[in-house]
Amino acid sequence: MENKELKQPLVQVKNLCKYFQLNRKATLKAVDDVSFDIYKGETVSLVGESGCGKSTTGRCMIRLYDLTSGQVLYDGKDISKLNKTEQKEFCKKVQMIFQNPYSSLNPRMTVKEIVGEGLKQHGMSAKEVDEKVEQLLKTVGLNKDHMSRFPHEFSGGQRQRIGIARALSVDPEFIICDEPISALDVSIQAQVINMLKNLQETMGLTYLFIAHDLSVVKYISDRVVVMYLGTIVETAETEELYSNPTHPYTKALLSAIPEADPKKAKANERIPIKGEIPSPINPKNCCRFAERCQYATERCFNEMPQLHEIKPGHKVACHLTENM
Ligand code: SF4
Repeated sequence: MENKELKQPLVQVKNLCKYFQLNRKATLKAVDDVSFDIYKGETVSLVGESGCGKSTTGRCMIRLYDLTSGQVLYDGKDISKLNKTEQKEFCKKVQMIFQNPYSSLNPRMTVKEIVGEGLKQHGMSAKEVDEKVEQLLKTVGLNKDHMSRFPHEFSGGQRQRIGIARALSVDPEFIICDEPISALDVSIQAQVINMLKNLQETMGLTYLFIAHDLSVVKYISDRVVVMYLGTIVETAETEELYSNPTHPYTKALLSAIPEADPKKAKANERIPIKGEIPSPINPKNCCRFAERCQYATERCFNEMPQLHEIKPGHKVACHLTENM
């Protein structure tokens, strides 16, 4: 990613807020002032515990949700202001792979119908659809014989491959991978990750990879964005984040990754996080991590820390690092 600052990002998320008004008094702030960029050809991972707003952010970026405020720009254009032709193009260029391969495929459709659906909508003949589906299945490690089968005849890993073939069918540029491996057996997870990496190299794809822990994303990400209760707490290039984690929440997440080497495991003491993730309904205007942070001071319960740069490209939202 050389000369990044000279290039325009492919995707720009600017001060994105997504609130759900539950009743007159209760507002669920699922995403609260989140900003980050994604450059062409890179993989940015959005990581955090369930309920931190990462999937909602992904859904806002593909227009499954309207934004409460803020902007998402794709190729420099605000995605909420596209005309009909631009919207059609956007729907082709941006695809999503969903978390649960058991519920994201229509059980009444054959693999050929699932993967070929987008192709038909874009005007291909039946013969062209057949050929393209066959080629797509080959790309994801399945074959022609699978075309006439239904989703229930496949394992979880195979279903996720079908979901990936469906996403690839319209020649996308940018794919939002929403926890694509968390429902799969550990033995299958590495296969799917490697396949996504290979596809990125051969097809020049850009990914937003959403995950709930840091163990998975190390091998696929160029940069990592760590979210906690609707806000970004830390972001850095992958190597920097793993070698120099700075926010107490990131440190705790990293310390929870199992270490195969017993010597290293002894040296890397696990940092516990107190309690459960608090409710995102009417959150206080203070550090969202304060209730669980072992370093919290009075200021942390009264003032929201701002995301600030501690090194080029490495940003942290914590009062402790403001003078670094
Ligand atoms: Fe912990 Fe305070 Fe930093 Fe929040 S601002 S992470 S509570 S030290």
